[in-house]
Amino acid sequence: MNAPASSQVLAPTVKLLIGGQLVESKTTQWRNVVNPATQEVLARVPFATPDEVHAAVASAKEAFKTWRKTPIGARARIFLKLQQLIRENMKELAALLTAEQGKTLPDAEGDVFRGLEVVEHAAAIGNLQLGELANNVASGVDTYTVLQPLGVCAGITPFNFPAMIPLWMFPMAIATGNTFVLKPSEQDPMVTMRLCELALQAGIPPGVLNVIHGGEDVVNAICDHKDIKAISFVGSTKVGTHVYNRASLAGKRVQCMMGAKNHAIVMPDANKEQSINAILGAAFGAAGQRCMAISVVMLVGEAQKWIPEFVAKAKALKVSGGTTPGADLGPVISCAALERVEGFIARGVEEGAKLELDGRKPSIAGFDKGNFVAPTIFSGVKPGMSIYDQEIFGPVLCIAGADDLEQAIEFINDNPNGNGTAIFTQSGAAARMFQEDIDVGQVGINLPVPVPVPLFSFTGSRASKLGDLGPYGKQVVLFYTQTKTVTERWFDDSTLHHGVNTTISLK
Ligand code: NAD
Repeated sequence: MNAPASSQVLAPTVKLLIGGQLVESKTTQWRNVVNPATQEVLARVPFATPDEVHAAVASAKEAFKTWRKTPIGARARIFLKLQQLIRENMKELAALLTAEQGKTLPDAEGDVFRGLEVVEHAAAIGNLQLGELANNVASGVDTYTVLQPLGVCAGITPFNFPAMIPLWMFPMAIATGNTFVLKPSEQDPMVTMRLCELALQAGIPPGVLNVIHGGEDVVNAICDHKDIKAISFVGSTKVGTHVYNRASLAGKRVQCMMGAKNHAIVMPDANKEQSINAILGAAFGAAGQRCMAISVVMLVGEAQKWIPEFVAKAKALKVSGGTTPGADLGPVISCAALERVEGFIARGVEEGAKLELDGRKPSIAGFDKGNFVAPTIFSGVKPGMSIYDQEIFGPVLCIAGADDLEQAIEFINDNPNGNGTAIFTQSGAAARMFQEDIDVGQVGINLPVPVPVPLFSFTGSRASKLGDLGPYGKQVVLFYTQTKTVTERWFDDSTLHHGVNTTISLK
């Protein structure tokens, strides 16, 4: 169903955005965009040709000549307008997102909203892109810095946040004076396109934002293109590592936010009900397809007796199409993803973990064709088991035990991933020790999904991230600009008759 499709299916086509125009691709390679709750074909997405990739980059390169000199206020006002348009169209955007991605409507609004926060941040660019000045670094000599845009930048995004993650990228890149080529996920490009249309409506000039669709070939073309200066990637560790290596070799600045295996620690002094509610929401929300989903919970000491409560509450969650009122989780993105998740559950059993709750093949009224897995819980999970060693990216929660906090911290630090983590405790001392000793980018204290707002930057450690700077926030201003230092002196009479100075010192 999700394999590249022939052009016989009568669904609308997703357009490319090149030079300010929505254009039909001339490619012969198309893929269906499928509603994961119903298998309805919503649209066909093209795999752009090399000429189309080149045209998008060329249009961004041309637009950069004027965009880089556009006044700060003019750039900022576009994002003020864009945030208003996103708010006005929130319901439509969420409905589109739910149709193609599967998450529930309230969660889809959350997806758009977290991106909207970055658009609001981009509207404050005047305060963010300031340089520094030092007077009299030598007599009568001043040095200042300017943060200049790089040129054409590109973004490659995953399927799981088709609104938030494109909005992590193009608003900040464009607000800082760059032009942009976006390559959305081929699995759910429709809401991303709608956001780009709103961006055009908000006043982004032709060529400043371009969109090309596709998969491996288009991504490789972006990595290799000589006119692209920087790439922001969000997706799996395997693809992100490839993008980082290939694009770095081509001389580009690259940041890759990648896969995860996020652990939560539950201390025996934690508030039981609130902790269990928080962890189950983070494990099963969006059907476990968040890069910040909690996929492993470490119960410390007496908390190991709480497994029955985890199971009972997880069993009560409502699985349905994302449009069903009161649904807690929807389907996984594709038939292939469903097969993969079910395969992991089978392997978990084979490899000796205890299947406390089996969510395979639930019967969902009104959605008998959907890619559904209900909440699934394993206990007795250990490193070496596939369900622990790999990112499942589905509604499967692994439970492991630890004798004390030190042991739990060591266990987490031994896992190669370092995206997010959380501790549930009422002890300030335990929380402080955890936040200091844990080697993970995003740390939550009694908070299960600690994604920072754009006053900060998204972080990540070890296998979850390549590149020094995070997306959005202060760090991304540095990512999308290069610092130039200007050292200046204005001659006056006191410098007359100084003669020729052949030393490097400034006086
Ligand atoms: P993915 O890596 O399969 O795809 C990401 C992008 O890469 C897509 O645009 C896709 O078209 C492209 N791509 C896929 N295969 C490719 C290949 N062989 N060569 C070149 N490009 C290729 O990821 P996904 O399945 O769409 O998203 C889920 C993954 O993203 C999970 O691993 C999740 O943890 C991760 N993720 C990470 C973060 C973060 O901030 N750390 C956020 C969201 C998602």
